[in-house]
Amino acid sequence: MIIIMHKSAGEADITHVEKILSNQGIHSERLIGEKQTVVGIIGASHGIDISAFTSLPGVQEVVRVNSPIKLASRGAHPEDTVITFSDGTRIGGDAPSVVIAGPCSVESEDQLRRTAELIRKNGVRFLRGGAFKPRTSPYSFQGLGFDGLELLKKVSEEFGLFIVTEVMEPAHAPRVAEFADIVQVGARNMQNFPLLRQLGNINKPVLLKRGPASTIEEWLLAAEYILSGGNDQVILCERGIRTFEPALRYTLDLSAVPTIKQLSHLPIIVDPSHATGKREVVSSMSRAALAAGSDGIIVEVHPDPLRALSDGAQALTFDMFEEMMSELVRIGDAIDRPVLVESFNRGKSEVRSPMSEVRKIV
Ligand code: PEP
Ligand code: MN
Repeated sequence: MIIIMHKSAGEADITHVEKILSNQGIHSERLIGEKQTVVGIIGASHGIDISAFTSLPGVQEVVRVNSPIKLASRGAHPEDTVITFSDGTRIGGDAPSVVIAGPCSVESEDQLRRTAELIRKNGVRFLRGGAFKPRTSPYSFQGLGFDGLELLKKVSEEFGLFIVTEVMEPAHAPRVAEFADIVQVGARNMQNFPLLRQLGNINKPVLLKRGPASTIEEWLLAAEYILSGGNDQVILCERGIRTFEPALRYTLDLSAVPTIKQLSHLPIIVDPSHATGKREVVSSMSRAALAAGSDGIIVEVHPDPLRALSDGAQALTFDMFEEMMSELVRIGDAIDRPVLVESFNRGKSEVRSPMSEVRKIV
């Protein structure tokens, strides 16, 4: 970290800054330039509160030289993190890209079973569905809670699917983790620090959605909470950020995918459903996400979107979902990274690509 002093800063201002640092046991070095002086901090600076220095007299700017991201950074861990599930299915690294699909909310057994049947028929292994729903209005459907988790369990067992579901309250984390194969942290909870700390203690992968108004650094620092708690299975999810553009629900920041790949070893997937809020554009943004190097996508699909209790406008119809799947397989072929599409009747270790030959996952 360096503290750049203002041109007009006097000797008293500079020694004041140095004194505060030395009182905290921090060693600093003064660099005297022609017009300005810079106070450089020697050694680790991640515990220093920058805001305490920016307002001191004579201070122009405080700049961090080292990134505050530690465990999530690619520097700390050059190899990609790969999350492996009970049957060997993997997310991240060079594993085939995955599709996670299902309704926004678990509404009924019939709704969930029909959706599960559809996605399984299309070779998808991960069923999403919210039982605890973070709704903007307290008057909107809030989810079926633990009854919804029981339905997810029943239906996922029937079809051999992994469950992706959201946890909202820190106290619920251990219980939700018993049902979920991937525990989702919703965008609005990205900086719910007590929740993140709880998830550092569980032994299940966490899907950490990006906050709609969060920078990539804030997002990685949120991941840092989970990693530093001892849970190294974090998957990031870009789900759109709020910009000035009102045409769609959010703006999908696809450039976050290669940026995260550079900065971090963690897998990243993309959620074009929440990012766009509009079923007509979900498929094209899913294709773009895979082309951008995403480790997978998560999409909403519903047997009757017009009657969905949440997020109906962005839910794919069954026909749209099937069409999207075949398009994704073609993108997978084009970029030489297959999409995990498991044939219902074949062994679990196969990746079926309707457009090309059957390939084995190594
Ligand atoms: C969801 O996945 O249904 C959801 C609420 O997503 P987000 O937290 O990204 O809005
Ligand atoms: Mn939703």
